[in-house]
Amino acid sequence: MERTYIMVKPDGVERGIVGEIIKRFEQRGFQLTALELIHPTKEHLEEHYCDLKGKGFFPSLIEYMSSGPVVGMVWTGKDAVKTGRKMLGETNPLASAPGTIRGDFCIEVGRNICHGSDSVENAEKEIALWFPRGVKTVARSHSIHSLFYEN
Ligand code: UDP
Ligand code: MG
Repeated sequence: MERTYIMVKPDGVERGIVGEIIKRFEQRGFQLTALELIHPTKEHLEEHYCDLKGKGFFPSLIEYMSSGPVVGMVWTGKDAVKTGRKMLGETNPLASAPGTIRGDFCIEVGRNICHGSDSVENAEKEIALWFPRGVKTVARSHSIHSLFYEN
């Protein structure tokens, strides 16, 4: 079963949008597999965003992301990575459709309230970085997945 790393950024935590974001992933049918409130170091964030190191906005991105606690989560389910990205909307909130998380709650690219993995490979890298002690996925008998995947 596919997993993705979803993180509520410091502005999302400060504005009290954590529950709303969790609600949307639960509602859609994904399974909450790990969750932690973390105040990340700049070094940790530089690792998370290592692909963006050369970008002009990188220093301000690291400042923003280290300005307060974040809520890191692992969500599991069919096509979790691509569907998670769709649920988030575009990187620039102004380009995000209403009904998406960014399209409903923000207008600034530098304050876009949430992160979602962009590929299965990156999702696994991010899960290993943010949950170094590992994540255990337990099948839930009441999960909607059981209707389709279990006897
Ligand atoms: N970002 C920014 N300015 C830009 C592009 C990105 O401040 O021009 C920030 C924004 O917070 C974004 C993050 O850097 O979410 C990571 O960029 P990426 O291209 O990976 O976008 P995402 O995957 O988050 O949609
Ligand atoms: Mg990205």
